[in-house]
Amino acid sequence: MKKYNFNPGPSVLPEITIKNTAEAILNLNGSGLSIMEISHRSKDFEAILKESKDLLKELLNIPSGYSVLFLQGGASLQFAMVASNFLNKKAAYLDSGSWASKAAKEAKLYGEVQVVASSKEQNYTFIPKNYTIPADADYFHITTNNTIYGTELKTDISSPVPLIADASSDILSRPMDVSKYALIYGGAQKNLGPAGVAFAIIRDSMLEKISRPMPTMLNYKTFVENDSLYNTPPCVAIYACLQTLKWLKDLGGLNAIYKMNTDKADMLYNEIDRNKLFMSPLTSSEDRSIMNVVFVFKPEYKALEEKFLEVAKSKGIVGIKGHRSVGGFRASIYNAMSDEGIKTLVQAMKEFESQA
Ligand SMILES: *Cc1c(COP(=O)(O)O)cnc(C)c1O
Repeated sequence: MKKYNFNPGPSVLPEITIKNTAEAILNLNGSGLSIMEISHRSKDFEAILKESKDLLKELLNIPSGYSVLFLQGGASLQFAMVASNFLNKKAAYLDSGSWASKAAKEAKLYGEVQVVASSKEQNYTFIPKNYTIPADADYFHITTNNTIYGTELKTDISSPVPLIADASSDILSRPMDVSKYALIYGGAQKNLGPAGVAFAIIRDSMLEKISRPMPTMLNYKTFVENDSLYNTPPCVAIYACLQTLKWLKDLGGLNAIYKMNTDKADMLYNEIDRNKLFMSPLTSSEDRSIMNVVFVFKPEYKALEEKFLEVAKSKGIVGIKGHRSVGGFRASIYNAMSDEGIKTLVQAMKEFESQA
């Protein structure tokens, strides 16, 4: 049976990404060697790395004066790297979800952390607004998409201090004004490729602010100065990311995918709002994520949860069980999720309603 993969991450990837990567694992460009067994300093791999960076720059319209890095340790190591490199005295954090909170926790190891606002008391059902960014902070850290709670900051905010964003789960889902950010980072395994590689888009002038001695592998300078080749990068994961980037470009780039993403999200939110069994737990509809759609049964239907999961499973729908901290359901509808997948889920919801 055809499967519709709504997993939050690692998550659905374009078929072509998986097919091309499988081929390159067997035989890279007819070389008779696997992408797994060639040198990361070979001409072949250097070309793969360069094309990946160039395509990311092109798709996101990254201005000059920025570097694109591929790193390891996931977004979670970026939490510590950001603070190790840039928190000299005090940093400001927006607490919009548990990833944001984990990022702030790492920062506390390096200096003062000022949480400018938090929606934790309301179980992160909205993104805090109306806060003041302290002008004396070394940087302001935000999470653009709260993967677990299904809230998304869809505009590129202005900040009086360098703006740093964890965009793990909405990178490349919409056009972004990169010039507003000092650093954008994330794990690749939500919208770009497999687990094992993280990306960072860093304004080069930020490197001048690094003053703390730290391990070589934690220092952004190491990756900028060595073009992400200080040590062995995750070659296979980067190859897979390149296939997704090419797929995105062929599709028409970020304006095209953004239109498709909003259409897909609208289809699902419209059904959640219409269906008498379901509701959104969010308190502010403007914060609804176009990547992770969180929905729950209305209190009186809560007992039906397991049954709906079974019905969904019978239709090939995979990975919609909600995160344990929210309950209910979460449909992660990243770039590679098809219209057909959304329609299948909507149909399952309609049928379930008619039989309840
Ligand atoms: C998944 C996720 C992370 C954690 O990523 P790892 O690569 O597993 O460390 C961090 N932030 C956000 C927003 C995420 O969605």
